[in-house]
Amino acid sequence: MAELRPVRGTHDLIGEDARRHRAVIETARAVAERYRYEDIATPIFEFAEVFTRPLGDTSDIVTKETYTFEDRGGEKLTLRPENTAAVCRALLSNGLLQNLPLRFFYAGPMFRYERPQKGRQRQFHQIGIELLGAPEPFGDVEVIACGARVLAELGIAADITLELNTLGDAESRTAYRDELVAYLRRFEADLSEDSRARLSRNPLRILDSKDEGDRELLQGAPVLEDSLNAASRAFFVEVRAGLDSLAIPYTINPRLVRGLDYYGHTAFEFATTALGAQGTVMGGGRYDGLVEMMGGPPTAGVGWAAGIERLAMLLAEPPAQERPVAVISVDESTSLEALVLAEELRAANVVVEHALRGKVGQRLKRAARARARYAVVIGPDELAAGQVQLRDLDRGEQEAVARVDLVRRLGA
Ligand code: ATP
Ligand code: MG
Repeated sequence: MAELRPVRGTHDLIGEDARRHRAVIETARAVAERYRYEDIATPIFEFAEVFTRPLGDTSDIVTKETYTFEDRGGEKLTLRPENTAAVCRALLSNGLLQNLPLRFFYAGPMFRYERPQKGRQRQFHQIGIELLGAPEPFGDVEVIACGARVLAELGIAADITLELNTLGDAESRTAYRDELVAYLRRFEADLSEDSRARLSRNPLRILDSKDEGDRELLQGAPVLEDSLNAASRAFFVEVRAGLDSLAIPYTINPRLVRGLDYYGHTAFEFATTALGAQGTVMGGGRYDGLVEMMGGPPTAGVGWAAGIERLAMLLAEPPAQERPVAVISVDESTSLEALVLAEELRAANVVVEHALRGKVGQRLKRAARARARYAVVIGPDELAAGQVQLRDLDRGEQEAVARVDLVRRLGA
């Protein structure tokens, strides 16, 4: 039945997938907390304007990728394709501009109508951080350092490299855009269709075109670095000095751009070759123009977002689950006692799997399959004597233990 399939580009998280997913979020959140980034959760849908205004009618995300619909009340809504604009909206809606700088961490689903393939879904999930109200270059350094530490603590940093670029300030970018457009106009007929469309609307984005012909033409194009004014250069020098002092390695990639107008200065990506074409696991940069573009006062911002699915695929081992204690009643007459005992152990912080059915042998087999460390076996005779059997499943040993001592024996 067609409607019982998941929608194309979506997936269920079950078992090991769910554990990997959760491990990525928990590790990232713990790291972000150390930098004082606090949880923020914004709705998964917003008025379409929240994204169309800052992302612009020309960005790939808005022109091709958003899920936008009218609800029953006639409101035009968009499932969030990314979270930075939503976080800035929340900053403005909640009047938080008096408390800057602010640090936020988020994790949750994003939605983009893309061609599904390995590492690319229509509903995917991101973790991310945003540092708002900090125009200092060390803000960029802090954000990158936090990202690097997340990757390190996930145990995947060895396969991942940091690419860095600067887009300069608005003046530098305008100067560069003019030069780039003047150069590319000479080859307009040879550009790919996408790039031709971007020439007037979003020329910087052409720099990261995947089209072979485009890439050849770009070989001779002017480079952004030559258009940087003194202030932009000084900013980048400080960012690099900070990264160098923290011994965070990077390579400069002059083609690395973030295609949106409100991005300036630092742009960066953490990427791996281990995932094929979808190798970028984390991307970020400085977006000092965004809050203003949304109707607020000029407010600095810098942050990153990372794809949880791509990070989860890189984890070597799914995180181990805590081994349970299995509580097993021998027959019906002791099942209520088993229920009570299981709950007592849980109250004492023990992970308990309560075998709800089956013969003792089956219940013990299931306990072994659950990798239980101990089985607590409750039979009518022991119960009458105020005891239970405690079986050490690793050693294959069993002993009678007083019922009253059990929680103390197993409690964490
Ligand atoms: P790409 O070049 O892969 O399309 P992007 O520039 O669109 O990436 P961002 O908007 O910077 O990506 O999002 C940050 C991260 O979110 C990406 O580096 C990637 O890990 C993840 N991501 C983006 N789109 C998807 C998707 N459709 N499915 C899974 N993960 C994604
Ligand atoms: Mg994309």
